[in-house]
Amino acid sequence: MHIYVHVPFCVRRCSYCDFSIAVRKRIPTDEYLNAVLKEAVGLDEGDVDTIYFGGGTPSLLSPDAIATLLRELNVQRHTPHATRRTVVERHTPHVTRHTEVERRTPHAAREVTLEANPEDVTPDNAKAWRTAGVNRVSLGAQSFDDTVLKWMHRSHDAARIGAAMHALRGAGIANISLDLIFALPEELHRDWERDLDMALALRPNHLSLYGLTVEPRTPLDRWISRGATHAPDEERYADEYLFAHRRLAADGFVFYEVSNASLPGFRSQHNSAYWSGKAYVGLGPAAHSFDGTTRRWNLRAWEAYRRAIAEGRSQIESEETLTAEQREMERVYLALRTAEGLAAATLCRPLPPIAALVKAGWLQEQGERLKCTPEGWLRLDSLVNELTMHTETQQ
Ligand code: SF4
Repeated sequence: MHIYVHVPFCVRRCSYCDFSIAVRKRIPTDEYLNAVLKEAVGLDEGDVDTIYFGGGTPSLLSPDAIATLLRELNVQRHTPHATRRTVVERHTPHVTRHTEVERRTPHAAREVTLEANPEDVTPDNAKAWRTAGVNRVSLGAQSFDDTVLKWMHRSHDAARIGAAMHALRGAGIANISLDLIFALPEELHRDWERDLDMALALRPNHLSLYGLTVEPRTPLDRWISRGATHAPDEERYADEYLFAHRRLAADGFVFYEVSNASLPGFRSQHNSAYWSGKAYVGLGPAAHSFDGTTRRWNLRAWEAYRRAIAEGRSQIESEETLTAEQREMERVYLALRTAEGLAAATLCRPLPPIAALVKAGWLQEQGERLKCTPEGWLRLDSLVNELTMHTETQQ
């Protein structure tokens, strides 16, 4: 069982972000816990392998709230139906005592990741997260240039990133990932090489690199429409992406997925489950769940989600069951995102023009497997189209 928990709250909207968030000065912790734990009551039982708090900004939740969620999510998977209802009502002290007596000993999830913004990572918070069971933190660094961070509407400065890493390590959280954004508009004069050097100097064991994209109705989209800045440049995107491959390899990092690189032994187990097509459960507004064939997603807006659950209505906005063709396309796409690539023998007949794609430098054949080169990852969508458009789907 892999569980994703979406925490939608942010203190402000970053200039490029179109995620499902609720900008709040005060985090409605009790309402949020009640809603998510009520949604969790409907889940099947099973051992929890990984839990991932994503957002939004999960680090805005109090450490107590994170501890409560972890306790209940780990425990609920093992709690008999008869006691599940009381778990949701845990805020009442006597109910808490009651459920604690009835609980069976849970197996702690192997990997518990918390996405955090650097300004929320204090030594006290880090210690409380560790005590609650968080053993991996994904830190939204984005850049080490204060001008760039301001332009992005980030609420931290570069100095906070190092302080946050220090606090996490001091609390015993050694598995730390940094997020960085590349391919910024030229006029920002962002020095990508310097940012990568600064990130590596902090010795993270995982890096996620995302190219800037312009999403509709974001502040960035509006700036571009009125000519105040330029859309990211494709050439810059490719240059910076390929440079990151060379720079990170020199420090022992391996890109194990199109946007993610790690030192040996530090791959994200939660995200790897998505990429290998495993089932997962999403809780919270806008969260997606997948059972192997059907994908469901929750109402996007926090208020709509909260109201639906409070009124006893379904929080599911919609669902889709993949056709055989979509499943094949998705299988090829997910496999090629990863460094493991795709077993060539599983491609449907007639075989697509593999030799031409290898010759173009987009694919490499290693044993029985087809793997993307960094240049191939740059054009993953068209590569997947090439590999699937020539085939007749096997039922
Ligand atoms: S902190 Fe993350 S989720 Fe929140 S606005 Fe910024 S990019 Fe979006």
